[in-house]
Amino acid sequence: MTINDRFLTYVQIDTQSDENNHSKPSTTKQYDLAKLLVKELKDLNIQEVKLDPYGVVYAHIPANNASKKTIGLIAHMDTAPDFTGKNVRPKIIFHYDGTPILLNKNLNLWLDPKDFETLSRQIGDDLVVTDGTTLLGADDKAGIAIIMDFVAFIMTHPEYLHCNLSIAFTNDEEIGNGADNFDYAYFNADYAYTIDGGSIHEINYENFNAANATIVVRGRSIHPGSAKNKMLNSILIAQEFHALLDQNAIPSKTEGYEGFYHLDAINGQCEKTTLHYLLRDHDLTKLEKKKQALIKAKEIINQKYQLPLIECNIIDSYYNMKDLILKQPEILEVVYAAYQKLNIDYQLIPIRGGTDGARLSYEGLLTPNLGTGGYNCHGKYEYASLTEMKQMVEILKIIFQQ
Ligand SMILES: [Zn+2]
Repeated sequence: MTINDRFLTYVQIDTQSDENNHSKPSTTKQYDLAKLLVKELKDLNIQEVKLDPYGVVYAHIPANNASKKTIGLIAHMDTAPDFTGKNVRPKIIFHYDGTPILLNKNLNLWLDPKDFETLSRQIGDDLVVTDGTTLLGADDKAGIAIIMDFVAFIMTHPEYLHCNLSIAFTNDEEIGNGADNFDYAYFNADYAYTIDGGSIHEINYENFNAANATIVVRGRSIHPGSAKNKMLNSILIAQEFHALLDQNAIPSKTEGYEGFYHLDAINGQCEKTTLHYLLRDHDLTKLEKKKQALIKAKEIINQKYQLPLIECNIIDSYYNMKDLILKQPEILEVVYAAYQKLNIDYQLIPIRGGTDGARLSYEGLLTPNLGTGGYNCHGKYEYASLTEMKQMVEILKIIFQQ
C-alpha cells in the first residue's frame, strides 16, 4: 500500500472527538480507525501490537542493529470538533500548477494561493484537498500515514538497520486529553517525536507556559434610584481592573515570542462579576510578571475602594518543554542532521499554544514535534502535501539509523 492510499483511507474514517463527552475516548468512532491500524500493524508482521482500554494503539518494533536506544513516534487519530469530519471526500491534485483549486463547483469554493500563501511554495507537489463541505483530517492522519508508511518500509526492508521503535496512536488530542492515561511504562521509549501539525519545514520544541486566572469582583447592589454614593457596580470595577493591564499584550496584537493576557470569559451583574483570563508566555519569568501584574491590579483597586472587592486565583496549566529538551540536545541534533543530509530546509518555530508533547515531556518522555505537510487545519480549506509526507518518511529513515 502506498502512503497515498493509506492517507486517503484514513481521512475517510470519521474520528471527530467531542469535548462535551467525558468518556474515554470521547467518541467510540475513534475505534474505527484504531482497529484498522491494529490490523494493518499485525498484517505487517509486527509482534507487539496493543489496543489499550482507553482506545490508544501501541506497537513496538525491535532494533535490528546493536543499538539499545528506543525512539518513539506519536500521532493522534481524532479530528477537531470545530468542523465536521463525516463523509470526507478527498481529491488528489497531482503536480500542482500554482493556480486556484476549485474545491466545490456548486458552492463556488476555491482554494486560492492569494488567500493561502503557503500554496505558492508547493508548485509541483501532489496535494490532497477537500470537497469544501468537511475538514480533511490531515491533522493528524497525515502523521499516522507517515508513521505507517515508515513502519511498512522497515518491515519489508530487512537490510535497513534501525534502533528500537515505539509507536503510539492517541485519541482526543484535539480536546486537550491526548496525553491522559498515556502508558509510559509500556511505551518505554528514551524519547519521542509527535508527528503532527503543519509544514515539514517547521520543527517545534518550544511552546507556551500557561496559567489561567479567575478574578472575582464583588460589588454592592442598591436600587439604582437611591444608589448615589452607595452602589458599587462590580461590572464597572471589573473594567477598571482590566484597564490596568497591558492593553497591547492581547492575542490580536501579539505573535512569535510575545505573550498575552487573553480575557476569554466575563460574566457579571452589579453584585458580582467574574473574569477569566488565559496567561501565556514562552518565557516563564515573563509569565510570572503577568501573574504579578494581575495581583498588582487587584491591590490597586482594593486600595482605591478601601475594601477587599477583588479576589484573584491563578492556577498554572502547562509549561514550555524547551528547557527540558535542550538538556538533551542530541534529540534535536539528529533531526537537524537528517534535514541537512536530505537538503531540506527547516525553521525552529515556537508553538503559540500547548502540545501533548509538552505534557509528555513534563512526565519524563521528551517529545518535540515534527511537521506532516498538513495546512489550514480544522476547516474546509485544510489540505495536505503528499510530497512533504513522503519527505518526512525519508527524514525518519535517517533519524532511526542510530
Ligand atoms: Zn494535531
